[in-house]
Amino acid sequence: MKQSQSEAQHTDVKDANVSALIEEQGNHWNQALVKAIFSPDEAQCILNIPLPESPLPDLWCWHLAKNGKHTVRSAYHAYINSDASPLTFSPNANSSSGPNPLWKQLWNLRIQPRIKHFLWRCCTGSISTPENLARHGLHNSDPCPLCKDIDSSSPHIFFHCPFATAIWKYAGLYEFLVEFQQPSWHLWIREFISPSFEGPTELIITICYLLWFHRNKSKFDSINMDPHSVVISARRLIKEFQEAQGWPERFSPSLSSHPLFGKPQPGPCIYVDGAISTHNNCAGVGIALLDDRGQFNKGLSKKFIGISNPEEAEFLAFREALFMAHNLSLSHFTIFGDAAFVVLAIHGETICPLQCQDTLSDIHRLKHSLSVAGIYWIPRDANFLAHDFAFFAKNMTSLLKWWSDPTYVHSQLDVFQQS
Ligand SMILES: [Zn+2]
Repeated sequence: MKQSQSEAQHTDVKDANVSALIEEQGNHWNQALVKAIFSPDEAQCILNIPLPESPLPDLWCWHLAKNGKHTVRSAYHAYINSDASPLTFSPNANSSSGPNPLWKQLWNLRIQPRIKHFLWRCCTGSISTPENLARHGLHNSDPCPLCKDIDSSSPHIFFHCPFATAIWKYAGLYEFLVEFQQPSWHLWIREFISPSFEGPTELIITICYLLWFHRNKSKFDSINMDPHSVVISARRLIKEFQEAQGWPERFSPSLSSHPLFGKPQPGPCIYVDGAISTHNNCAGVGIALLDDRGQFNKGLSKKFIGISNPEEAEFLAFREALFMAHNLSLSHFTIFGDAAFVVLAIHGETICPLQCQDTLSDIHRLKHSLSVAGIYWIPRDANFLAHDFAFFAKNMTSLLKWWSDPTYVHSQLDVFQQS
């Protein structure tokens, strides 16, 4: 019950119970006492509260549920819509304007539920970063487990730590993220899920999740990972999850307006894709050549034994396309692939993984000796021909197969999928 100025004047009722305001019979308020203690408005509110006909014992009630019983769900909704929630941060957001749109945005992300839950914990300040621990009186001066720097704050863990920086560079996102830096990690991560953010939210959040996971692995189990494998794992987690859900690949507006995002080009076009079979420890490369009228000319499935890294398969696919162009004496041709990191690496916009550097050197050498109109990146759905040829390649018994009819590969794929 609200304490009023008038109540403060009645020190004799300061520690009294509500029952002191009720008549002895138990079903009427003591109007005179209520009016004497409270302001007229407060008194009217109290007198409007109905009393039960027969006396009931005192009990605790949860005022946010109609039946008076506490539920975690009601507390959660009250918290999320309250000013106390770290999610109600927008200057325009207040408790009367409904749930924060950020919250809806978060749960609509196309990433695994456990990663969304991690993100929710980040946004509500409940991951055990030094700042969050300090808010609960737990001061921790341990250095960063990954680089031993005395700064182990969340901006360090997720961005400034050399381990994190290397990851963002491998992912081709370092330069992009620099401009989004905020003094606090809460503000930083909220940028990525705000409706106006035009970057690859799902990849960024998944990398953050893995960064935190590896920070803990290093801190508690002394297990260290290499930054490159974190990026591969992040891409794989997203791809596998979205494919399992049957969702098409989604591109953010900023990515589709990226200068390396493929658009229709004149001249011959070569579509490339790589696939791996961890089970057989081999990679498949698929190439589809379309002539300058956009008609299918030929396709290639090529198998590489002893390669189980998806990035290596993608780099090999681009090199194979250039070999094909060289052998067919193509000129003014364009190459399209759905592996954005390879396209970025070829254009020097991201760091090439160590094990792919020889292949990248070959790509650069061939690119300079040939008349290449451009190398671009396209969505997975637009690369279905090369995808099918690559998928076929990793499963085939021979090492090389040429295709003259793209429809033929589908009947062959059906045989694979049935067996
Ligand atoms: Zn560090």
